[in-house]
Amino acid sequence: MNVLIIGGGASGMVAALTAAKSHNVTILEQRDRIGHKLLVTGNGKCNMTNADQSLSHYHGLLDEEGSRMFAARVLKRFGKEEVLSFFMDLGILPKEKNGYIYPNSEQASAVLDVLRFALKQEKVRIVCDARVNGIEKKGDRFLVKTSQGEFHADRVILCTGSKAGIPKDQATGYELAARLSHRIIDPLPALVQLCSDEKICKGLAGIRLNGTIRLYEDDTLLDTRSGEIQFTNYGISGIPTMQLSYLAAKKLSAHKKVKVSLDLLPDHTEEDCLHILQQRKELGGYKSAEQFLTGMFHKNLGICLMKSIGVSLSESVSKLSDHDLNSLCKQIKSFELQIRQTRPFSDAQVCAGGIDLNEVKDTLESKLVPGLYFAGEILDINGDCGGYNLQWAFSSGMLAGQLEN
Ligand SMILES: Cc1cc2nc3c(=O)[nH]c(=O)nc-3n(C[C@H](O)[C@H](O)[C@H](O)COP(=O)(O)OP(=O)(O)OC[C@H]3O[C@@H](n4cnc5c(N)ncnc54)[C@H](O)[C@@H]3O)c2cc1C
Repeated sequence: MNVLIIGGGASGMVAALTAAKSHNVTILEQRDRIGHKLLVTGNGKCNMTNADQSLSHYHGLLDEEGSRMFAARVLKRFGKEEVLSFFMDLGILPKEKNGYIYPNSEQASAVLDVLRFALKQEKVRIVCDARVNGIEKKGDRFLVKTSQGEFHADRVILCTGSKAGIPKDQATGYELAARLSHRIIDPLPALVQLCSDEKICKGLAGIRLNGTIRLYEDDTLLDTRSGEIQFTNYGISGIPTMQLSYLAAKKLSAHKKVKVSLDLLPDHTEEDCLHILQQRKELGGYKSAEQFLTGMFHKNLGICLMKSIGVSLSESVSKLSDHDLNSLCKQIKSFELQIRQTRPFSDAQVCAGGIDLNEVKDTLESKLVPGLYFAGEILDINGDCGGYNLQWAFSSGMLAGQLEN
């Protein structure tokens, strides 16, 4: 059979290699080369998968539990072990760092290289600069229209990824699937930075500290993550922020009020924190309020915290009242920022949303268009930070490439 893979990304290359064991395979890629996004994954190191394979790391926008169960059925057939074994056969020696799995060389380019070597070996045809503009079903066959002319195929695997992290002028595959009657769950940026209105953020830009972030819808706690919080001139970034961003994006798109509360001293209880502040007052009565937190927090953060409790920066520390210390302690343990929006798709690592899984079989074949398959991020499954999105792209690519009915 002739098989067309649309999109030469993580899932497309793996689907192509799998299908090429028994079929003639061609990859159609809109860019000048395959695997562009793979090269930037994991800051150029490619976090391929993770030792922790709990299903709670997978999400779906339309139906969280349904998407997770769908992912589970795919991962049961082609999970972490199968993906690692696939890549080890191609030459990748994996290594683990705190559960995150990378190629031993810590080079994303190595992952792309071994895929390219194997694609050549399996005689997969790669057509670059070929943007796909339409897919039509003609009887049992497909007609695929591209910027490089028309292609015919017995099977098509749509592996066009998402809107996340791509240049604005690049196409996606959502419209192609929609024209074949598939329902698209409107994509949202996920694994992305959060923007706040607070003018405060500008003064804190560049500060990084270990903390805990609590995400709230009004006063209801939604989720909590810890790790490095990075302040930026628009809001906050860093891994725990990214991990919470999917839930924040979902609530914001439903016009809910979203805020984060930052614990800036997570290794100390509120009681400890108050005690520390009282001691600092006793020992530093000769200092000004502006100098009170020097040595405890970054200078700008210290000043911002003092301002937030309404004391004058020139006030003597000896004059700080119990009420001031209590308010300061509250600010340190729960520093609130209202979240206005997420950063745009171009800054996101992945998208939530995509092809409605209700219209896709467990084999990843379309229930609406026989012979059409999907793999990767185009489906309504998104993973946490930590290698779960590439794991999904590789696993679904392996399954789709089997071309089972
Ligand atoms: C900065 C960054 C860092 C990341 N780091 C990690 C990480 O370390 N670990 C992890 O698990 N995940 C990471 N991700 C997410 C991961 O890269 C994606 O989830 C994964 O690449 C999705 O694979 P895919 O095959 O579905 O899509 P992609 O890899 O995006 O491939 C889709 C391909 O289809 C092509 N295409 C799209 N539309 C058309 C069309 N109409 N015609 C022809 N071609 C088309 C695109 O040009 C692209 O080459 C990161 C993402 C970004 C942006």
